[in-house]
Amino acid sequence: MNGRFAPSPTGPLHVGNLRTALLAWLFARSAGSEWYLRMEDLDPIASRPEHEQAQCLDLLAIGLAWNGAVIRQSERRARYDVAIAQLTAAGLTYECYCTRKEIQAAAQAPHGPQPDGAYPGTCRELGDRERRRRRRDVGRRPALRLRAGNEAVTIIDRQLGSFTATVDDFVLHRSDGVAAYNLAVVVDDDAQGVDEVVRGDDLLASTPRQVHLARLLGLAPPAHAHVPMVLAPDGARLAKRHGAVTLADRAARGETPMQVLAVIAASLGLCEPDEPLAGPSDLLDRFAPASLPRAAWTVPAEWL
Ligand code: GLU
Repeated sequence: MNGRFAPSPTGPLHVGNLRTALLAWLFARSAGSEWYLRMEDLDPIASRPEHEQAQCLDLLAIGLAWNGAVIRQSERRARYDVAIAQLTAAGLTYECYCTRKEIQAAAQAPHGPQPDGAYPGTCRELGDRERRRRRRDVGRRPALRLRAGNEAVTIIDRQLGSFTATVDDFVLHRSDGVAAYNLAVVVDDDAQGVDEVVRGDDLLASTPRQVHLARLLGLAPPAHAHVPMVLAPDGARLAKRHGAVTLADRAARGETPMQVLAVIAASLGLCEPDEPLAGPSDLLDRFAPASLPRAAWTVPAEWL
C-alpha cells in the first residue's frame, strides 16, 4: 500500500496537520509502504512557495520523510484536462453558469430541498439555445460539473466502517479555470500509485464523490482511513489563532520538534507526553490502527 500526505501550502502546519501527517506516515510505514508528499496548491492566491518550504521543513523536523520528489498540483494541469476530456467525451460533463448565491437560493427552495451543499441541478438540462444565451449573458467562464445522477455511493472506511452519500453533480473544473479538488485528488492519487488515503475525517463526506469519479474514469479507487480531527478548547477545529500550535510557536517556548512529536503521539495513545523520542520510527511497533482513538482530540487549554 502506498500512502501520502497532501497539505495545501497556504500557511504553516499546526499540530492538527502534523498529527494527520504522522498518522498517514504510520499507516504507510507500518505496512512497509512508500509515503508521498503532494502539495495541493491549486488555489493560485493562497498557495505560496514559502509555505510549501516551511511545511516540508516541519515534516522533516519531526522525522516524517517522504519518498521521491514533492508533487505539486499546479504543475499537473495537463493531466486534469485529459481526465475532463475523457468524461466530456462520455457525455458526463456540463457547463454551469450558476453563482454560489444562486445555488444556495435554489437549494433552499421549497420544491428542491437538497442535502448539504448539493448542487440542485439548475444547469443540468439546459438546451443548446439557453446555454448559448447564458454563455453570452453571464460574461464569465462557466464551471464544469459532473453529470453524476444523484446515485447513492457507499464506501468502507478502514477506521469508520461503511459510509453512504448521494453523489451530486459536483464541480470538476472551476469557473476561474482551475481544476477542482475532487478531480485533482482522484487523478493524482491514481497517478502516484496511492492505494490507501489517510486523512482527516472532515473529508469523509467528499469520499463517495471521489470513489464515484474514480470509477467513471476507469480507475481503481484507493482504500480510505479517515482519522479524527484536532479541536481547540472552544470546540472549533484547531487553527493558528488558538495559540502556540506550530513548531515555530513551540520552539519559542523552548520545545524541540521531538518534544512536540511526543505530545502528538501521546494524544494517540502511542507514548507518554514527556517520553524522549528519537523519531517516529520509535512508534512503529506500538502502532495499531484498530486501537486508535475514534473521537477528536481536544488540545488542553493549558498547552496552548
Ligand atoms: N489538501 C487537503 C487539505 O489540506 C487534503 C486533501 C486530501 O488529503 O485528500 O485539507
